Order: sequence, then C-alpha cells, then structure tokens
Amino acid sequence: MRLIEGKKIAADIRAEIKEETERRRAEGKTIPGLVVILVGDDPASHTYVRGKGKACEEIGYVSKIETRPASITQEELLDLVNAYNNDDAYHGILVQMPLPDHIDEKTVIHAIDPRKDVDGFHPINVGNLMIGDDALAPCTPSGIQELLARYEIPTKGKHLVVVGRSNIVGKPTAALMVQKKERANAIVTVAHSAAEDLAAITRTADILVAAIGRAEFVTADMVKEGAVVIDVGMNRVEDASKKRGYRLTGDVDFENVSEKASFITPVPGGVGPMTIAMLMSNTMKACKQICGE
Ligand code: NDP
Repeated sequence: MRLIEGKKIAADIRAEIKEETERRRAEGKTIPGLVVILVGDDPASHTYVRGKGKACEEIGYVSKIETRPASITQEELLDLVNAYNNDDAYHGILVQMPLPDHIDEKTVIHAIDPRKDVDGFHPINVGNLMIGDDALAPCTPSGIQELLARYEIPTKGKHLVVVGRSNIVGKPTAALMVQKKERANAIVTVAHSAAEDLAAITRTADILVAAIGRAEFVTADMVKEGAVVIDVGMNRVEDASKKRGYRLTGDVDFENVSEKASFITPVPGGVGPMTIAMLMSNTMKACKQICGE
C-alpha cells in the first residue's frame, strides 16, 4: 500500500503557484486577487476561511476576507458580490457556504461573475465542465484528479466509482473524470443512498472515491484487492482524549481498507489540503483569463 500524501502535494502546488506569482510580480503582470465572503459565525466556516486567507498571504495574492453578520439581507449580500464582480483587483470571489436560511444559496451563486467563480459552482462552469469545455472546476474534484495524476495512477479505461452525488464533490468528480481527456477517460459510476447493494458496486471499482459524510462507512469488504481509495470525508467524531473534544475521520475505515488498497489517502492530510491548493490554482487561472493571457 502507498499512502497518497495530499498534504505534501498541496504544499508543492502552493509553492509552484507562489513562484509563478513572484515571477508575475517581477514582470509587472497582474497579481491574482481573491475575496472570500463569510456570513455568520459557523465555527467550521471560520476555520476554512482562515485557511484560505493564510494560503493567499503565503502565496502573495491580493486577498480580502469580507465578514458579515448572519443578519445581512440577501439584497445586501448580492450587492457585495456585485461590487466584487466589478472590482478589477479581484479575479476570484468565493462565498463560503452554508449561508443562513433566509438567503437562497442558488441566487447568490448565480450572481457571481462566472469568470470569477473560483468555486466552480455557477451553472455556466458546471455546464462547461460537463461538456468538456474549459471551465473553472470545483476545487475538491480537481484536487482528486491532481492527486491521481501526480501519483501517475492511470485513469483511462479504469472503473471509477464515486459514492455520493453532491454538487460540490460527487457529481463534479464524475463529470471531470469521465471526459475523453488526459488525466480522465475513466468508466464512471455514481452511487448514492438509493443503491440496493452498494458493496456490490464499490467492489467493482479500480478507483473508489468516498464522498458520503459518514465516518468509516467504507469497510474492507466493500473494496477490491489493489483498488485506489480516495477518501473525501471529513467527519468530526467525539474524542475526549483530544484537546478540542473530537477527531477528524474520513468516510473510509482506513485501518482495514489500507491493507487491501494499492493507494489510499489519509484523513486528515489527504484530499482536504488539496481543496485549498486547487482554489489557489483556480484563482490564478481566473486572473489569467480575465487579463486575456
Ligand atoms: P452530501 O451530504 O452533500 O452528500 C453525501 C452523499 O452521500 C449523498 O449523495 C448521499 O446520497 C450519499 N450517501 C449518504 N449515505 C449513503 C449511504 N448509506 N449509501 C450510499 N450513499 C450515501 O456531502 P458532500 O458531498 O458535501 O460531502 C461528503 C463528505 O466529504 C463529507 O464528509 C464532507 O465533510 C466532506 N467534504 C470534504 C471536502 C474536502 O475538502 N476534503 C470538501 C467537501 C466535502 P443521497 O444523495 O441519496 O442523499
């Protein structure tokens, strides 16, 4: 078994982007800018946003975190998004989800200029991804693809099963990996809670992507000998021995599945760090496209 060290790959990608940013600065080119809009006080969202801000700082991007109280109206939030749509210093706009109940997430996503939609959630980007055109693709699926590519794990003709059909992980992972392109070209199956015999499906996977949101749900009997296992799950499990009272666990029973897998991602330190790295990469891409490079 080989461990897929997402943390290390993510650090490599961030270093590459930092170098590129420094080169751009030296050449007098536009420096990418990312604004993250954070509404309310969900502690997990605050942690994610801090991580994104830190990555921007370390790379040398122009960055800003716009914090707003949960009481903000939808109209005020849309005005804020629109202000950044028209601000040339920012090439990426990310509205941290979830939003308070009185705000319609879809309306907010639709308001972001698709060229600045570095989360890749706008229907224009989703559509372009699906038809195989150039798109800003969602960060977690891009991170999965990047991990497979950097470990030189073949995907062409391989059966990739993704468990989970969310719009942020499951469906875009399938859309990305099914394309007739380098680093993709897989035979893709999307499984979900309506599966009558999920294990029978997952056991046919050469590459198994677990994006379920249930701690240690994928057990060894669900995995084929030699499969590549990508664990997207980030579940907080109560653990009194930890200072913060919980530990992070993936969707895969790592201890037992790792004995069967040829490659496997750990949690934490697998897919998680890749998400921020790909956000930085999308921001660079958006900047270049907006600048007509
Ligand atoms: P969602 O809750 O949106 O989707 C979960 C999916 O799993 C659904 O499609 C659901 O099916 C399916 N599912 C649930 N139970 C079962 C079951 N018993 N059998 C088969 N399928 C099942 O989650 P997300 O996609 O947003 O996230 C998934 C996990 O990944 C979470 O742990 C999340 O924290 C983590 N995550 C990690 C990221 C990272 O950066 N590493 C980024 C984003 C998410 P159905 O549609 O039928 O309900």
